[in-house]
Amino acid sequence: MKPTVALVGRPNVGKSTLFNRLTRSRDALVADQPGLTRDRHYGHGRVGAKPYLVVDTGGFEPIVDEGILFEMAKQTLQAVDEADVVVFLVDGRTGVTPQDKVIANRLRQSGRPVHLVVNKAEGLQSAMAGAEFHELALGEPVAISAAHGDGVRELMEIVLEGF
Ligand code: GDP
Ligand code: MG
Repeated sequence: MKPTVALVGRPNVGKSTLFNRLTRSRDALVADQPGLTRDRHYGHGRVGAKPYLVVDTGGFEPIVDEGILFEMAKQTLQAVDEADVVVFLVDGRTGVTPQDKVIANRLRQSGRPVHLVVNKAEGLQSAMAGAEFHELALGEPVAISAAHGDGVRELMEIVLEGF
């Protein structure tokens, strides 16, 4: 059975860009407009001889609820539930946001293995890019550039270790 990798994170962090790179397809809609990708998208990826299934998600829909600022979209929750491993993307250019913290907490509760990935890190020193994300308490952040491809293969080797 191919492992399933879910790409999650708030809108505009680069999930669809990474999905496209992993699947080398244009299936996922990449847009400057945050939150445009609404549905889950499935694609096939491979690192070395290891095939995997990757799921792009529409991220987290902001629902204003008392006390809860952001609620994970149902589909994203479902994607996390169905995944063997989760890649949680954050934006190295904007730093930690309150929404990142909410998502981090949800993912911790999911019981799934989570890899924290700092995207848009091209031109940034990896350790520096990741430093402030330690506060999300999801382990050592991995810095990549989905747009340029930096660190993507190394990331997938780590993500698929043990599968
Ligand atoms: P999503 O909403 O998480 O799916 O994000 P998208 O993949 O649609 O990307 C949102 C924006 O970030 C687009 O303008 C992308 O071109 C840009 N982007 C994605 N990856 C990178 C990256 O590695 N570096 C930079 N500088 N921009 C990126
Ligand atoms: Mg998207």
